[in-house]
Amino acid sequence: MNGFLTITDLHAGYGAAKVLHGVSFSVEQGAVCAILGPNGAGKTTLLRALCGMVKVRGTLRLAGTEVTGRAPETMARLGVAHVPEGRGTFAPLTVEENLRLGASSRRDRTGTETDLRRVYDYFPILREKRREAAGGLSGGQQQMLAVGRALMLRPRVLLLDEPSLGLSPLVTQELFGIVHTINQEERTTVIVVEQNAHLALGIAQQAHVLESGRIVLSGTADQIKADEQVTRSYLGIR
Ligand code: ATP
Repeated sequence: MNGFLTITDLHAGYGAAKVLHGVSFSVEQGAVCAILGPNGAGKTTLLRALCGMVKVRGTLRLAGTEVTGRAPETMARLGVAHVPEGRGTFAPLTVEENLRLGASSRRDRTGTETDLRRVYDYFPILREKRREAAGGLSGGQQQMLAVGRALMLRPRVLLLDEPSLGLSPLVTQELFGIVHTINQEERTTVIVVEQNAHLALGIAQQAHVLESGRIVLSGTADQIKADEQVTRSYLGIR
């Protein structure tokens, strides 16, 4: 399979607990790919596998280079940024300290100030709160901080795990709008795991439905939106 990020026959799990059973797909450079599926399907595990956090079997290729089994630090240096579910920002540190940490695993750290400005331009609220502790931010602002921190890596691939979790519809909409802009302006490839299928399919060109560790349906966002089963299960229309 050709593509910027190519996943072939990926198996992953936690010790004896096998979670992914031969997942294959590829994502073009600059595309947004949505991963949908029920709780426990393995969506989080898939993103963890893509950033080197869980052991895998199969093949992962990034920009034509095999990167299977690389450590998370190496994947970060190669430009794969992961925004985990639950955000993972450092509560006692200020907003700006959290953002600067995002650049720390980058090989080339010149341009950090430019990158900070860029993140603040995307998220003006973070500029406003840059000297405040991250722990004091609202849920939406913390999610923005988590995405901003990932951007400090100047990622080629952005992995977003349930970005809408716990956020109000309005804040979620704003966040997805910014992710869409980042994708358009920087050609950052995005893989987004999302319970809110409407939102994810609104910015994605392609989507895959994962069930019990296997892809059961793949297509363009429009095809997936039109699929009756998906509509019933994930789009809340009966
Ligand atoms: P959710 O939307 O509920 O997060 P998901 O599709 O992201 O679901 P995963 O979180 O990848 O699914 O979980 C897939 C399976 O792996 C589940 O059965 C879960 O219990 C198991 N699992 C997840 N994390 C671990 C872990 N650290 N150790 C052992 N099993 C785990």
